[in-house]
Amino acid sequence: MSIPHSESTAASEDSHEKPLRVVIIGGGIGGLALAQLLRGDDKFQVTLYERGELEGGQSQLAGFRIMVALEMLTALRDRLPKDVLPLLEESIGVQPSSGQSLCMFNEKGKITMKYTTPDFRAARSVSRWKLRKALLVGSESFVKFGKEFESYKSTTNGVTVIFKDGERVECDLLVGADGAGSKVRKQLLPKASRSDTKVTVIYFKMPLTPETECMMPYGSGCLIMAPRRSMIVSSWKNPKKHYGPDDLKKIDGDESFLMCGLGCYTNEFVNQTKHPDDMTPEELKDECLARTQHWHPLFRSLIAKTIPESVFVSHIKTQDRISPWKSSNVTLLGDAAHSTASMTPYLGKGATSALFDALQLANILKSDSNPPLSAKLARYEGNMLKQGFSVADKSMSVHKLVFNMGKNRMMAKCRDRFLSSLDVVVGEKEPKGKPFPGK
Ligand SMILES: Cc1cc2nc3c(=O)[nH]c(=O)nc-3n(C[C@H](O)[C@H](O)[C@H](O)COP(=O)(O)OP(=O)(O)OC[C@H]3O[C@@H](n4cnc5c(N)ncnc54)[C@H](O)[C@@H]3O)c2cc1C
Repeated sequence: MSIPHSESTAASEDSHEKPLRVVIIGGGIGGLALAQLLRGDDKFQVTLYERGELEGGQSQLAGFRIMVALEMLTALRDRLPKDVLPLLEESIGVQPSSGQSLCMFNEKGKITMKYTTPDFRAARSVSRWKLRKALLVGSESFVKFGKEFESYKSTTNGVTVIFKDGERVECDLLVGADGAGSKVRKQLLPKASRSDTKVTVIYFKMPLTPETECMMPYGSGCLIMAPRRSMIVSSWKNPKKHYGPDDLKKIDGDESFLMCGLGCYTNEFVNQTKHPDDMTPEELKDECLARTQHWHPLFRSLIAKTIPESVFVSHIKTQDRISPWKSSNVTLLGDAAHSTASMTPYLGKGATSALFDALQLANILKSDSNPPLSAKLARYEGNMLKQGFSVADKSMSVHKLVFNMGKNRMMAKCRDRFLSSLDVVVGEKEPKGKPFPGK
């Protein structure tokens, strides 16, 4: 991924003109980053509308860890307003001495492959909760919470944005940063379809203490693949306070944590008495323990340490490929355009993709070249779709490795053998980080 460079922002011919009125829908990572990148530039008048409230609620400060490419952090440090930077630094977890790593296991605890690309090794584990908090610094002047977007109408002067409460707002540019279920996308591209993988992932946090840190099966990230089931394990370590209390009742957003995500076809849950969305956090934890009964005891002891109240359930739907559309004055960003990268849990790349889009769109809008807005958007959208779907494809290939190539016991065995042979050729020879306990 080549991070967009900032283009010249010298005063343009139209610098005396009225600022461009930009409305952003969605205060997730992507929307907030775009608003912050445009903040303070008097060529823009930015307002961001978020349906959730500032405090509380799953759409707010929730989240686990996201993997952010090093170049992306450098670009953000260069271009975000200075008052955002202290909290941005605090969101970046302690980097393991040998960098990030990824190791694959079968459910019995046998390593099938340990291979980490240089980019992934250099990436940083960032707390989504803290990153979002950083991006909210100074946002009182441009964010309106509790405002749900409903639809828009193109007019001769721009766009009229219509909210659920009936309010209408005029703007020159509407940006849909409203996540995977984007209503802006549904209106802009009514034929853009999404596919249901029929897989549900249950995420939990676990306390990070010196003891639980030793339970990390290998390095900083593990992918455990069983037939038709998977589990990921990773962590975020607060640079200011490395360890938290060993409390299974609650965890604060600030605390360091281990996390796991257990994937399985939704109709193959052990607990068939109700839909996952209707299960209590404790029932979801029991489900994870029940489906891993014959797994290696270390994986099960990790599940036993999960904090029920931290649960987050994700039904994996992926965005089918979108072709560039005729650009005008409505555009998309992040998961609203290409949600596969984030919805499959393996690479944690959704936020990097959304940040990439925000940087690119801000650069193009700020550039002093003066083509019509639609031409600038066409340039942005072409790159955004190419880049976003390329990351999405990588994420999807891991999903296929887990579920398509692990359809039954026999296929899973073949997959594991294949990975083990590949490991002989490309796998890391020296164990990085902690070796698997007992091996
Ligand atoms: C609660 C949550 C937790 C996550 N945790 C992780 C994680 O741990 N690791 C990881 O890799 N990825 C995680 N992700 C995904 C990751 O944050 C995104 O893939 C990535 O940041 C892309 O961001 P985005 O801004 O495009 O979309 P999102 O982060 O999904 O943000 C979209 C925002 O739009 C708002 N919105 C939606 N519809 C409307 C509407 N009609 N009107 C107004 N506002 C609306 C939503 O409330 C949300 O705040 C999480 C996403 C969410 C929502």
